[in-house]
Amino acid sequence: MDTTEIQGLGAPRQPAHQTVQNPVRLGQARLGDGSFYVIAGPCSIESEEHLLEVATHIKEHGALGLRGGMFKLRTDPNTFQGLGEKAFEAVMHVKQATGLTFFSEITDPRQIEGFHEFVDVYQVGSRNMYNYALLRELGQVRKPVLLKRGFSATVKEWLLASEYILKGGNNAVILCERGIRTFETSTRNTLDLNSVALVKQTSQLPVIVDPSHGTGVSALVTPLSLAAAALGADGLMVEVHPQPESAKSDGAQALTFDQFSWLMKQLRSVLGACNRELTHL
Ligand code: PEP
Ligand code: MN
Repeated sequence: MDTTEIQGLGAPRQPAHQTVQNPVRLGQARLGDGSFYVIAGPCSIESEEHLLEVATHIKEHGALGLRGGMFKLRTDPNTFQGLGEKAFEAVMHVKQATGLTFFSEITDPRQIEGFHEFVDVYQVGSRNMYNYALLRELGQVRKPVLLKRGFSATVKEWLLASEYILKGGNNAVILCERGIRTFETSTRNTLDLNSVALVKQTSQLPVIVDPSHGTGVSALVTPLSLAAAALGADGLMVEVHPQPESAKSDGAQALTFDQFSWLMKQLRSVLGACNRELTHL
């Protein structure tokens, strides 16, 4: 995208978080209505007890969305690939117990039907942003889609990918910046907050930030989350685990329960300073 295309850049304007025109309804809440929506949970669901423990904690501290991978797309095929369909019942029980809105990654169009009953938001992972067959199918569903940015995708390619879903008639699309691959190797990815500020000014879709994958380092998740809140992102997706050192995937970037509670406290302060608040029911 040529930045000269950005309308009114530099001119006095509304704060970024007030410009979204396509908030996405999630149960009784709306993501992109000016408030800040928090989604948290494990990278992968490991058992029903594990998911319930995380869900209970994040709910108590103000998250409305629960994330949890069932079908994992791991770079190394010899690592844990997720519980797959064995996780379905666990998710249904945890949703019943907590009322949280459930986000999970869909890796294949053939999963749409099985997910339909209990997955509230279909997550398209970074590796599938270019999977146009999957995006087209998701254009036909009447449920929200969270579209992560491909780790080597330009902002323009990411927005064009969203159009595959929108063109099918599904307007409930949430963008998620999750970091891109750059020459920098001291963090897992480079969290591109430029893109978030840019997309807030050029697109009507809500955009959230995933600093867990964006940094790969749990100690960096809170500072980058606060930056995301301050710059006007519509929300956050973060990984949380009761014992990150024994997590089956992405332990190095998972927040402990204490770290998550601290993050939520800090978020409230930053949002307050920006005249915003956490999304609540
Ligand atoms: C995830 O959310 O666990 C995940 C695999 O993310 P990404 O698609 O951004 O790598
Ligand atoms: Mn992960």
